[in-house]
Amino acid sequence: MIDPFGRPITYLRVSVTDRCDLRCVYCMSEDMTFLPKAEILSLEEIDRLCAAFIRLGTNKIRITGGEPLVRKDVISLFRSLGARIGNGLDELTVTTNGTQLTRYATDLYAAGVRRINVSLDTLDPGRFTAMTRWGKIEKTLDGIFAARAAGLAVRLNAVAMKGVNEDEFDAMIAWCGEHGFDLCLIETMPLGDIEGDRTDQYLPLSTVRARLRQTWTLEDTDYQTGGPARYFTIAQTGRRIGFITPMTHNFCESCNRVRLTCTGTLYMCLGQDDQADFRRILRAGATDDELDAAIIAAIAHKPQGHDFVIDRRSQKPALTRHMSVTGG
Ligand code: SAM
Ligand code: SF4
Repeated sequence: MIDPFGRPITYLRVSVTDRCDLRCVYCMSEDMTFLPKAEILSLEEIDRLCAAFIRLGTNKIRITGGEPLVRKDVISLFRSLGARIGNGLDELTVTTNGTQLTRYATDLYAAGVRRINVSLDTLDPGRFTAMTRWGKIEKTLDGIFAARAAGLAVRLNAVAMKGVNEDEFDAMIAWCGEHGFDLCLIETMPLGDIEGDRTDQYLPLSTVRARLRQTWTLEDTDYQTGGPARYFTIAQTGRRIGFITPMTHNFCESCNRVRLTCTGTLYMCLGQDDQADFRRILRAGATDDELDAAIIAAIAHKPQGHDFVIDRRSQKPALTRHMSVTGG
């Protein structure tokens, strides 16, 4: 599948639920209303759609959410997708908040998952609870270590927020070095209507990187995971640090991915509204050929790029759908 701008579309991110056991301040409001079950694709429907994407050349799938590991029986989806590794699919990964990993890490490994991303914005227990509104850091840390023990390579994702966790990045780099994890810093994106002022929290990673260079030697590397992160190796720890900068650096030129929501809407771009409704197509009884044709038609509408904007007067994001809906 090649989009109208010549980019091969090889990477599918799939949100399997809009629900979550945490309420991170930058992601959800405290009183989120979740979707009724009938609107959510069944795991079989998700599997069928993924199979179609793999048939058409997708070789990497990331399962996300919401919190993917709170979805009932989600491991059965990992098993059926994992069975396609080596048969069209090269890699199956997951992004999780880590709270369920003590329970699922071994199952994920057995299903064929080898690398996972775990979101951890701080190492401070009080701050963790404040940022997630009600999370307990021990649960996530136990999950991270269970994942490592199960043989999974772990990359930690931290959303960089001005005045919130910016004083911790040195400590996090040292901690990741000590325990064998890569770290990826992410700029906050204005997605979804949440309480509070977003422009106040925005911290450009160009500033963070300049600050980190005062303590750490960041060596250029051509390491790539097919995602949007730009990586460096930290000479002192030997681990990698990635930067995802949707706001300061437009990474759209090399964008290889599309996103499927838990309701079956395919978004061609995280920052645009172009979409196609696959739940309707699936539930209308589409054949595999019809499904493939619908996917190809949707990819033909992938936009060239995004331009996140916050309306400064209303402080409302330009796009009101939440990250937990599109899948981070
Ligand atoms: N619940 C899982 C987790 O937290 O890893 C998976 C879904 S979550 C939406 C995926 C990623 O998106 C997380 O790393 C989270 O920190 C990030 N995220 C959520 N809202 C964001 C925002 N407004 N700006 C930047 N990153 C965001
Ligand atoms: Fe849940 Fe992940 Fe959003 Fe946090 S970032 S509220 S863990 S979906």
